[in-house]
Amino acid sequence: MAAASGREERSQELAALAARVAGCTACRLAEGRTQVVFGVGDPDADLMLVGEAPGFHEDKQGYPFVGQAGKLLDRLLAGIGLTRQDVFVANVLKCRPPGNRDPMPDEIEACEGHLFRQIALVEPRAVATLGNFATKLLSGQPHGITRVHGQPQPITLGGRETILYPLYHPAAALYTPAMLRTLEEDFARLPVLLAGAGSGPAVPPAPGPPTPAAEPEPAAEQLGLF
Ligand code: URA
Repeated sequence: MAAASGREERSQELAALAARVAGCTACRLAEGRTQVVFGVGDPDADLMLVGEAPGFHEDKQGYPFVGQAGKLLDRLLAGIGLTRQDVFVANVLKCRPPGNRDPMPDEIEACEGHLFRQIALVEPRAVATLGNFATKLLSGQPHGITRVHGQPQPITLGGRETILYPLYHPAAALYTPAMLRTLEEDFARLPVLLAGAGSGPAVPPAPGPPTPAAEPEPAAEQLGLF
């Protein structure tokens, strides 16, 4: 954790960024949103979680992960002794795509600067990407989440070394029990990863070859989370 003055400074800079992003009209999603969902949490967090985009409830309430997937996220965090107040939660897109459709490439391009700035300000030890969109954006690689989940990788984000830790998206795990188990297992390895991040060898990847936890079921597949 950074010194208290660092926390105060980060907090102010994040608030200033949030105020700027609140009026963003860089893409078509500005037209249909109720409000920008900037992200929330400890400005000094060791762990940042990055989802895909606000859904119906997030758009209405202005906070990320307040629906069913958010409840699962809270449970996963509690399982490793953390609460929302201990982490920073944001999304790739800050505005809800109509009907919760997948983000489009030009929308991601228009929005990604906000996320990179958030990461640069929070300076987390680890960034856990939830699902395909966040993982592909932040890794800069085309590999899908089924292949890379649970495999921490050192990465430079916001001009500084951090650990990228891809995880299944909680919304996908809601539909698929085997995926939920895998997500729980991957989540359980976070404390070791956070303890070791930046101070030695990375936590070993999940045992065995990268295994698809389960065949995506149609309902979840339609969410574009794999
Ligand atoms: N799914 C996301 O990816 N982000 C949210 O904020 C809510 C659901």
